[in-house]
Amino acid sequence: MRVDVARLSEDRELELQETWGPVERDLNAPGLEFDGPLRVAVWVKKDGGVMAARIRVEGTTRLTCARCTVEFGSSLSHSFRLVYPIDAAEKQWILDDHIREELILAYPARIMCREDCRGLCPRCGEDLNDGVCRCKRNENEKCRAKNRKLTLNNS
Ligand SMILES: [Zn+2]
Ligand SMILES: [Zn+2]
Repeated sequence: MRVDVARLSEDRELELQETWGPVERDLNAPGLEFDGPLRVAVWVKKDGGVMAARIRVEGTTRLTCARCTVEFGSSLSHSFRLVYPIDAAEKQWILDDHIREELILAYPARIMCREDCRGLCPRCGEDLNDGVCRCKRNENEKCRAKNRKLTLNNS
């Protein structure tokens, strides 16, 4: 995203749009992959001695839950502002690195399919969101067997 400094005005925002490929821009992260191109929109104007830009980035993502490893679709939309002092020697303001950094900082710190995800059983690996896992079922079996024995002994 390049802004021609000569095209900026004080009273009207210049609107720029681009689509970014997530792979070529290196935007995928562990547990977060974009499903297709991202839409990047920038509105920029001169404001006194600075260039001021409003930026919005949108895309659809495939997320992987950090607890149960299930994959689910989501969307990401991030709006922010960037301000840059006007330097008479610079003809272009290149925003790409700044936009990429801001976007990556907005990624969720911990990706979860839902807030109370119960994750996988550390012993058998079954998804505990689906109900009782194999080890618990076996434990219950053992308990029932023990109870049966106790009942038999008592009678
Ligand atoms: Zn989960
Ligand atoms: Zn288990």
